[in-house]
Amino acid sequence: MPAYGRHPSSQYIEIQNRSFLVDCGESTQMQLMRIQPNFHRINHIFISHLHGDHYLGLMGLLFTMHLHRRVNDLHIYSQKGLDEIISTQLRYSRSVLHYRIFFHRLDHRIIETIYEDDALTVETIPLSHKIPCTGFLFREKLKPRRIDKEKLPQGLLLQQIANLKLGEPIRDDEGNVLYSNESLTYAPRKSRSYAYCSDTAFDQQFIDQIKGIDLLYHEATFLEEDSSKALETKHSTARQAATIAKLAGVTTLLLGHFSARYKDLAPILEEAKAIFPNAKLAVEGEEFLIRD
Ligand SMILES: [Zn+2]
Repeated sequence: MPAYGRHPSSQYIEIQNRSFLVDCGESTQMQLMRIQPNFHRINHIFISHLHGDHYLGLMGLLFTMHLHRRVNDLHIYSQKGLDEIISTQLRYSRSVLHYRIFFHRLDHRIIETIYEDDALTVETIPLSHKIPCTGFLFREKLKPRRIDKEKLPQGLLLQQIANLKLGEPIRDDEGNVLYSNESLTYAPRKSRSYAYCSDTAFDQQFIDQIKGIDLLYHEATFLEEDSSKALETKHSTARQAATIAKLAGVTTLLLGHFSARYKDLAPILEEAKAIFPNAKLAVEGEEFLIRD
């Protein structure tokens, strides 16, 4: 439930000028307007599961996009049923959107690559919840090597420069190496990775999949003292989230999806930090940067 200024789940993700939305709880569009990213650039929306706190804001956002005369195609990835829910609402309001929506049905039992372009991929993460639920793993592809402009000889062809970025040396017409790649390039920028894991019971099965990633968002709905509640509702405690982060060897852990029973979140952070020190709270409106 919304509580103490905290809203239901939604995250806006920007990677190399691409915009994505993960989950769309109630009031997401209000928060997007407040935080002011260019949300009309969102072409892909990933919905983890069909509990209301993860998608009840979607319809409002879709209508606002329509009223703003959006024309770009919109892709929505979700478990079975969301296409029916949206179609029913559109039918009864006799609305025909100015843009097309493409639904992509997720299979919560397997790991699938559901999105790919030249810069990144998005994979599903099978989670353990009361209803079918998937997390999402964003991974940048290997980036091109960076050219050392100071050392670059004059008169190279565009193709030769493209080859340098791919790690190739400069060769003459006979194929002999004129310049090694290392003498003209720097290492590429780091390829960054981010995983969204909500909602889920404590589950070690996806640890291999998220090994060594830069940022892990893992739900921490409860404190360990309420672990029976976590078990019953198939959620995690802060300590369990931290244990997953530790076992997976991630760089940073982001905790979220806090129960409305807690006003003060400091104990949640403290509990996680005892196991995994580099933990942070996913606070409303806050931005988290992964450097490359
Ligand atoms: Zn849920």
